[in-house]
Amino acid sequence: MLYLSTRGHPDRKRFCEILLEGLAPDGGLYLPEFYPQVDSATLEQWRAVYAQKGYAALAFEVLSLYIDDIPAEELQGICERTYTRQVFGTDEIVPLRELEDLFYLEALSNGPTLAFKDMAMQLLGNLFEYELARRGEELNILGATSGDTGSAAEYAMRGKRGVRVFMTSPRGRMSPFQQAQMFSLQDANIHNLAIEGVFDDCQDIVKAVSNDLDFKRRYRIGTVNSINWARLLAQVVYYFAGYFQATHATPVGGSPSKVSFTVPSGNFGNVCAGHVARMMGLPIEKLVVATNENDVLDEFFRTGIYRVRGSADTHETSSPSMDISKASNFERFVFDLLGRDGAETRRLFSDELGRKGYFALNEHGSFGDASGKYGFASGRSSHADRVDTIRETWQRHATMIDPHTADGVKVARPFVQPGIPMIVLETALPIKFAATIVEALGKEPDRPSRFDGIEALPKRVTILPSDMAAVQQYIAQHCA
Ligand SMILES: *Cc1c(COP(=O)(O)O)cnc(C)c1O
Repeated sequence: MLYLSTRGHPDRKRFCEILLEGLAPDGGLYLPEFYPQVDSATLEQWRAVYAQKGYAALAFEVLSLYIDDIPAEELQGICERTYTRQVFGTDEIVPLRELEDLFYLEALSNGPTLAFKDMAMQLLGNLFEYELARRGEELNILGATSGDTGSAAEYAMRGKRGVRVFMTSPRGRMSPFQQAQMFSLQDANIHNLAIEGVFDDCQDIVKAVSNDLDFKRRYRIGTVNSINWARLLAQVVYYFAGYFQATHATPVGGSPSKVSFTVPSGNFGNVCAGHVARMMGLPIEKLVVATNENDVLDEFFRTGIYRVRGSADTHETSSPSMDISKASNFERFVFDLLGRDGAETRRLFSDELGRKGYFALNEHGSFGDASGKYGFASGRSSHADRVDTIRETWQRHATMIDPHTADGVKVARPFVQPGIPMIVLETALPIKFAATIVEALGKEPDRPSRFDGIEALPKRVTILPSDMAAVQQYIAQHCA
């Protein structure tokens, strides 16, 4: 399998080449040249693989269609080391819970940091370690986080050979639980940098350091952001696993059942993996994109207009991992929507967005039909909606859900169709967002016992001014 850029660059690359890269050289995102097709016989075979050999074996089936430059037995070992009961808490890895008839939650947040990003990041850690050892290279990951991404990256890379993590976060702005999760790590290769500033300051520093090409090369700086293709690919697997749990085997000669998914979305990474699964032939009826008050994506799927927001128009909400001003993975879907026209994708994302701050696909005529063809629908929730949904789900189903998952449950309801299972992806556990749970339920969320007393553990964090030079100096001193 070869990979191409969404902006039409002529180069084609293999998986291990793009694994450690961010954007393509022309600023586009990498996608496979084509989506391998899974016919109904293969689908039933995979159903059996998941039921009999487990999630790691299913992951190997999916990944090996896209990765042909890692020997099969190595890739299998990587999958087996990643998706274990020990790390994810159950044999299913992503168990479904039925809230009511044909309405399910798919649990993606039982990994080390209790958010769905572990599903991909844990795999990425093992892939990085493998590839860096093969090349005899090292990598220094520099990132900015307001919570979930940074902790998932640190828990994936801790103790891995050849990798160091330098994670900036806005000082004092993460929840106490999130701070404790990150700062209590004592691994020598993990560096927490609390920046005197807000999240945007952290992101600006990371961008500035990445633009300092000399420094970047000299200190082998890389990232783990959500545009990484390997992360997206890892996420494709749980759409298949969710499908198998919600449906019965297709009778011989029959046509496979359909399911719909609703996905709490920010950067469009999670739901883009659903799009890839659907393009491979997984029978998905609807892919419902759920946003919060930061509704860039909902606006697009309703109107055909993609309008990025400034930081003044980006709201701080009770579902902070979805507080985005632009959706960094969205370009992948637009590329497919435009019939994989790289020149047109480049024009929209680099010229039009740069010049006007928006582009309009409804001007191209049949936007509704085109997006309908890909199964997308969308909706948004307000803070009050999420609080009500958390309360209602607790009262009716004795199930505690976090504000991001509540967004999904709320937005999913109008899209439920008779006879078609609706699967809402659970993207975090309530303990990470205790304040909203207390507001909704008047009680503290359940805490998995392994996190008892985590706030009292010794913290390993360095406070730095909001200054690129200070961060560079810190990195230089800790890259011996
Ligand atoms: C990252 C995250 C999201 C958004 O996922 P995208 O891939 O950016 O769309 C939703 N919920 C939680 C809890 C997250 O951590």
